[in-house]
Amino acid sequence: MPELPEVETIRRDLLPVVRGRTVRSAWISPDAPRLAQLVPAEAFCRGLVGQRIEDVGRRGKYLLIHLEGGLTWIVHLRMTGRLQHGRDGCPDDPYLRAKFGLDDGSWLCFMDLRKFGTMWLVDDVDLVTGKLGPEPLDDAFDVGAFHGALKRRSAAIKAVLLDQAVLAGVGNIYADESLFRAGIDPRKAAQRISRPAAGRLHEAVVEVLLEAVGDRGSSFSDYVDAQGKAGYHHLKVRVFRRTDEPCFVCGTAVRRVKVGGRGTHFCPKCQRR
Ligand SMILES: [Zn+2]
Repeated sequence: MPELPEVETIRRDLLPVVRGRTVRSAWISPDAPRLAQLVPAEAFCRGLVGQRIEDVGRRGKYLLIHLEGGLTWIVHLRMTGRLQHGRDGCPDDPYLRAKFGLDDGSWLCFMDLRKFGTMWLVDDVDLVTGKLGPEPLDDAFDVGAFHGALKRRSAAIKAVLLDQAVLAGVGNIYADESLFRAGIDPRKAAQRISRPAAGRLHEAVVEVLLEAVGDRGSSFSDYVDAQGKAGYHHLKVRVFRRTDEPCFVCGTAVRRVKVGGRGTHFCPKCQRR
């Protein structure tokens, strides 16, 4: 599932090629009845045609395509969504669920195997993203406030890191990697994380996300960027999906457990409870 670094990579890819362009046509497949949120697909498409794209932003895992006149086109890729820019139409892909023609003849193409992807066209972004916690790469991600949020939660720290209301944009890959880097057992209760450990985790989250953005995201399964190319960061992970392989630091076999229903990878020696 695309997390902050993957969505940020797509944002950076799209910005220079779609800014200033006007949407000339919009089509959503009848196969994807839940893609357009709040309104029927036809109304969604009608609302988008004629709109000029002013900017492309991001909040957590949500891509925010800001339109002239105040509307925002919000895209969430969920599990297997791909948003690509095509100079010569959209790929011949059985999972093409929507396509949007731009006034320079290029296209925005949305492919989605699992069909969990969602889009909104709203005048108030908060309607969709209002409950998200701080952006980890913004100054708003303050270590004191982060530790305070952990203190209020009795769930395992891994599960709390995945809670988008605590922190926006972190998913399974980067939660495991951040906890490894901070030396924290993913099963430990969030409220028992000390202030120094919260400080290490805060720093680790930022480092891990920045490195992954630098590597254009991780392509363990479906993720590709806006040009249809894989990222590189999956080649550099230290624990995620390395079950039974030796820890790069101490040689102990990486373990996989379930935490909050999610597969969780950690080094039992480097990440003591
Ligand atoms: Zn280790």
